[in-house]
Amino acid sequence: MGRSSVEMVARCLCGQFRAVVTGDLKSVAMCHCLACKRRSGSAFAYNAFYQTSDVRLEGTHKVHEREGQEGRKIRRLFCPECGTTVYSSGEKFPGICNIPVGAFADPDFPAPLVSLFEESKHAWVVPPPGIEHYVQGRAPGAVRPEAK
Ligand SMILES: [Zn+2]
Ligand SMILES: [Zn+2]
Repeated sequence: MGRSSVEMVARCLCGQFRAVVTGDLKSVAMCHCLACKRRSGSAFAYNAFYQTSDVRLEGTHKVHEREGQEGRKIRRLFCPECGTTVYSSGEKFPGICNIPVGAFADPDFPAPLVSLFEESKHAWVVPPPGIEHYVQGRAPGAVRPEAK
């Protein structure tokens, strides 16, 4: 999954908060959990995973922290001006961060490889063929082995 030759920039709606990606994509997921529905206001979240060291943040942000499964912290960084989430990380996957794919505004971005929390998937949402299905989330450390 190369896409490392060119810097990729994810940015918020107003443009002042940016995540600049300089390394390879590690995984792409769609997540149907209820928190992702609330966060995104949409039927599911579409997230790209990178190594934290491959992402540089620019502009100002605020942090929202919540507890995910088993009380592990999930930190979400969003623009204080327009509210867009541009970056998240969780204790479940140390060294890995995720960026909402929509923030890249790239219709050619790779399709998701995994479909998470299908227990709360809307019945009309049909994941792409060949995708891995999970009733809930992935095991800790599962992000990297899926990287190609
Ligand atoms: Zn903004
Ligand atoms: Zn989710």
